[in-house]
Amino acid sequence: MLDEAPAPVVAQRSRDNRPAKCATTTKTTCPYCGVGCGVLATPDGAGGAKIAGDPNHPANFGRLCSKGSVLDETLALEGRLLHPMMRDAEGELHRASWDEALDRVAREFARIIARDGPNAVAIYLSGQLLTEDYYVANKLMKGFIGSSNVDTNSRLCMASTVAGQRRAFGFDTVPGCYEDLDCADLIVLVGSNAAWCHPILYQRMLRNKQGRGAKIVVIDPRKTATSEEADLFLGIAPGMDQALFCGLLVHLARSGALDQDFVRRHTAGFDETLARARALTPSIAATAAITGLRECDIAVFFEMFAATPSTVTCFSQGVNQSAQGTDKVNAIINCHLATGRIGKPGASPFSLTGQPNAMGGREVGGLANQLAAHMGFEPESVDRVRRFWNAPRMAAREGHKAVQMFDAVARGEIKALWVIGTNPAASLPNADAARAALGKLELFVVSDNVFSNDTINARPHVLLPAQAWGEKDGTVTNSERRISRQRAFAPAPGEARADWLIFSQVGERMGFSGFDFPQVADVFREHAALSAFENDGSRDFELGGLAGLSDEVYDALEPTQWPIRAGETKGRARLFGDGDFFTPGRRARFVAPEPPALKTKTSRLYPLRLNTGRVRDQWHTMTRTGSSPRLARHLPEPFIEINGADARLFSLTDGDFARVSTEWGACVLRVIVTDRQPRGLVFAPIHWTDATSSNARIGALVAPFTDPISGQPETKATPVALTPCAFSSNGFLLSRRTVIPPDDGWWARVAIPGGWGYKIASNAAPPSWRDFLTDGFSREDVVEYVDDARGIFRAAAFDGDRLECVVFIGPDPDPGWEATLKVFHQDSITAPQRASLLSGRSRDGAADCGPVICACFGVGAEAIEAAIAGGCASPAAIGEKLRAGTNCGSCVPEIRRLIAIGGSAH
Ligand code: SF4
Repeated sequence: MLDEAPAPVVAQRSRDNRPAKCATTTKTTCPYCGVGCGVLATPDGAGGAKIAGDPNHPANFGRLCSKGSVLDETLALEGRLLHPMMRDAEGELHRASWDEALDRVAREFARIIARDGPNAVAIYLSGQLLTEDYYVANKLMKGFIGSSNVDTNSRLCMASTVAGQRRAFGFDTVPGCYEDLDCADLIVLVGSNAAWCHPILYQRMLRNKQGRGAKIVVIDPRKTATSEEADLFLGIAPGMDQALFCGLLVHLARSGALDQDFVRRHTAGFDETLARARALTPSIAATAAITGLRECDIAVFFEMFAATPSTVTCFSQGVNQSAQGTDKVNAIINCHLATGRIGKPGASPFSLTGQPNAMGGREVGGLANQLAAHMGFEPESVDRVRRFWNAPRMAAREGHKAVQMFDAVARGEIKALWVIGTNPAASLPNADAARAALGKLELFVVSDNVFSNDTINARPHVLLPAQAWGEKDGTVTNSERRISRQRAFAPAPGEARADWLIFSQVGERMGFSGFDFPQVADVFREHAALSAFENDGSRDFELGGLAGLSDEVYDALEPTQWPIRAGETKGRARLFGDGDFFTPGRRARFVAPEPPALKTKTSRLYPLRLNTGRVRDQWHTMTRTGSSPRLARHLPEPFIEINGADARLFSLTDGDFARVSTEWGACVLRVIVTDRQPRGLVFAPIHWTDATSSNARIGALVAPFTDPISGQPETKATPVALTPCAFSSNGFLLSRRTVIPPDDGWWARVAIPGGWGYKIASNAAPPSWRDFLTDGFSREDVVEYVDDARGIFRAAAFDGDRLECVVFIGPDPDPGWEATLKVFHQDSITAPQRASLLSGRSRDGAADCGPVICACFGVGAEAIEAAIAGGCASPAAIGEKLRAGTNCGSCVPEIRRLIAIGGSAH
């Protein structure tokens, strides 16, 4: 935490969103997860910035996790899309002017709409966009084009929570706030690896545990960093969460733990829901039979929940990403309604949102089944929004949700698609099919700030350069309904523009009125005014109190929670504590879930289930985090985790490669054998794409089945097969620029200081590597070490004193990676360094330190293991000796795990 935060200087911005004067320190918000941490950014005058946590932001009070801490490493312009581009009749991309590009988008949209109707066009948005971007996109599509085919990658993230909350509360309302995590006596985490995915909130929970003695229960099919700190871990069978919470509801009723008064006065549907729960899970034994848990563990959990009025149940992707995700959300909410534990200090169900502005997108109707300001497609809402916008062609019904949208593209029904700030060719389920569908479009437009990713490489007709974090200006809303400003602290490079402005300019070109927003504050004011329009308090979302704020007040807006009703200056931290809900009868609704059933069955061909998720130090498809060398050192290559017994069954050992295949696609991944995985279930992270690996697009493996209510895909239970995949050699390649390694082997790319590092497995013989090096780099100055008998080939290419490329290939996995990195990052190397380079040993004798556990101080697993062997028996002792874990704390669960297993994980 900073002791003295520099005073922020906030600049007025013009319509093109460039700072009008140079800022010193700017208060902004982290662009990654839904915790929504406040960040202080101080430009260094050379295109970079010093990054620190904002000590006054109520989400993080100055703390940042490993990802937020190294935002400074992601500001470089390498790989940025800087100018509009258009593809010509021959299929070649050319630089274009903004006028040419926007004219083409507007003209082609209008032509296709005139011929095939408004539903032949679609927009696919991102939870990374700002609320103002989302607002203008939705206004354009739903109000003026007349199509609801506008959806977002948030569909893949938390749509089931939206649907579950709407069923229970009438609207998509999060009842609680982060302070509840400080004062709860019991925190239940369901389907949430918060230690890695919401690190700052998780550390807040740990401080409660350490300071107040709060208990933590983790419910997850696999052991994660989060479960390391749990008082009770329930390793539930995949997809069975609603059975556990039905069993809990039955137990609460049986043990007299219900809040009868709250249920009678403020809810509806309890008796039917309890009856359905009793039919499914009449006893602890029945609950155990369905969930695969031990009866004694279930009994302990049920007793803890029943006996602890101050309970928060946090749930995340493990609940949402399911073909029954909505039912799972309602099963959790049911237990909180039944005990009256909702919207009270330390007592609430709590959805941990994945993306930084998933909630902001929901506020303005970023989902195809919502309108704007949390309204749905009821006729009175459609009419209200039509009148407010003076909209000529108001969409009157829901559009295609994400997976269905790409199905409609594949069928040729959607003929024009505009993708903004997201990478669906990699991240959608059945991603190969989604990518192939893009080739059928008559008009394919991408707005992004990078020049290359799997979606952009699918050959869009128009590429529009968008501003990135640090250049954008607007608002985001985090998991606790808190709106924070994301402010620009750097000028936009090249011709990059704000997304809201790009949408507005297309709207104007299509002849629509109401898109002449002079600046971003005007978009916010209109959004706030719509939320208050004809809102008598019956709609949850309202920013009426902010609808008239001046430009200066908008620029200086402090983080604030909604709703803020007209005439109010402050929002509300909690909702529903008084039992007043937003349903027509003002009662919450119990919803009886369907019995749990996975959409897909394992078989002889696909005998395991694939669970997908994130790693601690990467975000989405790595278009931002992938440029940070420090983040790359945690887990630098795509992998699959498998239980030891399953590994033996499929003839795999730790460090092998496996071909991982499903009915929908295949990948090749490094095998990690671990007891963190239960038998029958494997886990792979989602981050790698064709841009960063040879064959590790996890989205291509995932079944495209969706929840019938939320439309969210089931991304955590696809049947899968693993078979060994052998390569004759392993190694690495370091290069100043991105390259494609030779042959059809395996590779994965990470950022390293001074260039790019490739982990490699290959069947290529030394001559192929020699050709690769001399063709791609220098023919003049190449040194080689070749040992044909042992299958070793090592070589380096130089440009004067500067090392341009290094290749190490041999039978052992990447010997010398660490030592060579140390030399490679130098601008010039000395003669002794050159002489010892191909030995793979550094001249200071440093050995490979293993995967980096502490990203902040670059401390590797082997150093931590040595400290444990030397007597360090706690994270505090490790921190004192090595500093590991003493900054952001994101690695403390992994340090604790290494201590627990005696420091021999590697
Ligand atoms: S927890 Fe980390 S990734 Fe999430 S908002 Fe905070 S700093 Fe960013």
